[in-house]
Amino acid sequence: MNKRFPVLSTVAYMLRIVGWLTVACGIIVVIIGFGRGGDYAWLMAGSGLIFNLWGLMTIASGEAIDVLFAIEENTRVACGPVAQAFGSTNKSSVQTAVAQEIIAPNAAGESPVNGPLFNMLRKQTHGKAVTFASIIGNQWTCFCGQKNTYDPNERIQNCERCQTNRDYAIKHCSVEAMQSLINTQS
Ligand SMILES: [Zn+2]
Repeated sequence: MNKRFPVLSTVAYMLRIVGWLTVACGIIVVIIGFGRGGDYAWLMAGSGLIFNLWGLMTIASGEAIDVLFAIEENTRVACGPVAQAFGSTNKSSVQTAVAQEIIAPNAAGESPVNGPLFNMLRKQTHGKAVTFASIIGNQWTCFCGQKNTYDPNERIQNCERCQTNRDYAIKHCSVEAMQSLINTQS
């Protein structure tokens, strides 16, 4: 039973039960038909076969719905890790901040870098990142474009705008991270 589509999964379940019952009836009709013999037998056997076909098609449509459920489930699983990573701090504020960043130009007026590394970054963040995460001097830049004060003595620092953790952003959204990701994939 799919919790998000209760009606559809119940229908799928019933289709399969009805389908198998129809197949069972069809087989019985075929057996009885041949058992009686004579001209009548062929008529009954023919109807029985039609029952069987009809039943099998009903079962198949029930299973087709289950296949759609499985595909839908897989799609959500595939998006899970990234969504989780972004949700580890404050999901809605990350999404809002990043969405605004993509529509509006970067506050510093920088245009996004183009190339395989940046494409990989965009892919990894489902198009949310506007720049690589980096640490330069006493400043660390978040993938959302926000420049934050970098204090190596602070073990935990979060982005002022989207609340993403500094070490997480550097580990997963830096140029080096994308480079090693591309290296492992090729
Ligand atoms: Zn940020």
